[in-house]
Amino acid sequence: MESPWTRMAVSEDGRLWWDGSSWRELSQDGTLGSLGTAWRSLTEVIQEKYPEKQAERFPDPDPMLSPQEIRTLYNAGLDWVISKLPSRPNVDEDVGMKWLRDLATFRQHGLLWAVYGAEADTNGNYGILTLESGIYNGGLLVVAPPGHPLAKGPTLQVLPRSDLNMLQILPFAMTREWAGIALIHELEHLENFATGQEPRPPSRSQYLDGEVRAFSAEIAAFQLVTGSRFIPTVVGLYRLFSSAAGNPTEGLSQTQGGHMMQALALEADALLGCPPPQSSAEAATRLGFYFVAGSLVTAGVQASNPDIIEVRRKVIEVYYQPTGQLPSP
Ligand SMILES: [Zn+2]
Repeated sequence: MESPWTRMAVSEDGRLWWDGSSWRELSQDGTLGSLGTAWRSLTEVIQEKYPEKQAERFPDPDPMLSPQEIRTLYNAGLDWVISKLPSRPNVDEDVGMKWLRDLATFRQHGLLWAVYGAEADTNGNYGILTLESGIYNGGLLVVAPPGHPLAKGPTLQVLPRSDLNMLQILPFAMTREWAGIALIHELEHLENFATGQEPRPPSRSQYLDGEVRAFSAEIAAFQLVTGSRFIPTVVGLYRLFSSAAGNPTEGLSQTQGGHMMQALALEADALLGCPPPQSSAEAATRLGFYFVAGSLVTAGVQASNPDIIEVRRKVIEVYYQPTGQLPSP
């Protein structure tokens, strides 16, 4: 699918767009400025370009892999992300990079791949069988095989079990790149639980800190693999799309899941050169990441408060409030 912005580039700070012949500026308040008069309604363009729900582009049911294939895929994705880490920290390195470095170490100290057994005991609990030998002191990565009763819910999910520190992974096909990126986020949670940095159950404040660390590590990873193009690209797209939605600050959040969100994810994929998603589960993972991480970095660029951690905490609290998953304050 050809993107209306295929020939466009974005400046370092996300404020200028190259439309193929000249730089155009998005005005401070997020409206289209001169771009608005040059183009017809962006909303119309988006609806014309993306007439159908993205999910309809994928086979139903989603393509699935065996537990061993999932293990190979996610390990390869993680290796790929970690291989991009510069050997020495830069002086002005983003705080997420520090957490990413810690994760690379955590990963070496005992993660073990496993799979759910087919039979449940009388309490309805399924056994867990390891897929490799070894000991672990960090956490278990447990695959729910295709067709398994537990193979539902989010594609990756750290389960709040007190007896096991485990990440559950559903067997949907993914690209290696996004398997690696998505795994970084959840491994950060797993590490925080393993080290006690985030206790169980967490207070609201500890929970928000944990989400900030997970998203910051994931954002740092995506910055690395895109050659630092993620933040300016998504900040620019946010400005463009928010103003197209008619409300510069709330336009995007009100259209989550709608055409605009899907168009945002597709445009970001196109501008960043991401390979096509392998399943609707992967497309949903990307959309969620672009939406939340995009909001976090956009808020960071726009905020007058220089404390980036505090800005990210606030955004996550506002977004998670309606979902009911925040611990009470
Ligand atoms: Zn999280």
